[in-house]
Amino acid sequence: MFNIARPSTENQMESPEAPKAVQGIFCSSEACGEPAVADFDARRLCMEHFLVVCFQELEARNERLKSQPASTETESLRKFLSESVEQVQKLSECDRFSDSETKSQLLEFLLRASQLSKGLRRSPRLSSSVPVWLRREDPSRTWEEETWTVTVSQHGAGLVCRHPVEAGGTVVLCRRDKGSRAQARVVYCRYDGDGRRQIGVELLDRDDFWD
Ligand SMILES: [Zn+2]
Repeated sequence: MFNIARPSTENQMESPEAPKAVQGIFCSSEACGEPAVADFDARRLCMEHFLVVCFQELEARNERLKSQPASTETESLRKFLSESVEQVQKLSECDRFSDSETKSQLLEFLLRASQLSKGLRRSPRLSSSVPVWLRREDPSRTWEEETWTVTVSQHGAGLVCRHPVEAGGTVVLCRRDKGSRAQARVVYCRYDGDGRRQIGVELLDRDDFWD
């Protein structure tokens, strides 16, 4: 669903998919000076500042949804999601932003935005801790560790992971409480505030894994 691999275009200075509207304009964040790549609230921002405000907005809205009935937030949330997701999707398809750090942040935003919009329609994303064994069964890099979920949603989860793993890799989740097993694809890898590596995964072969 978020597979955006493209052949590289080494001889081109700029990918044809680069967002034309904001080329050659600089970030409006104070004293930044980086080229602008996207718009947020009528401000043109560089990649770094755009991602910062997108994640802040997503977090703030996620918090508000927990404390207020969704109906009061739904319209503006849908608008925010559709505008930000459209821009992030374009950026993630752009060859010039294919360094792994930027790409994994763009993908993480898409995953979280999709979880949030699914949450509008059905079960909310739950903050819960389910004990799991996390396994990598790739013949050259097999490992297993005991861990737990930080968040779960019907089609995915965020987990603490001590082994290095790259976005796009496949892992196996095995519930320590029930023994059920599911294949999953790693969608992002980042560090939380306590310096622990967290990965986000999308379940591949079942959607009843968390009951
Ligand atoms: Zn900037």
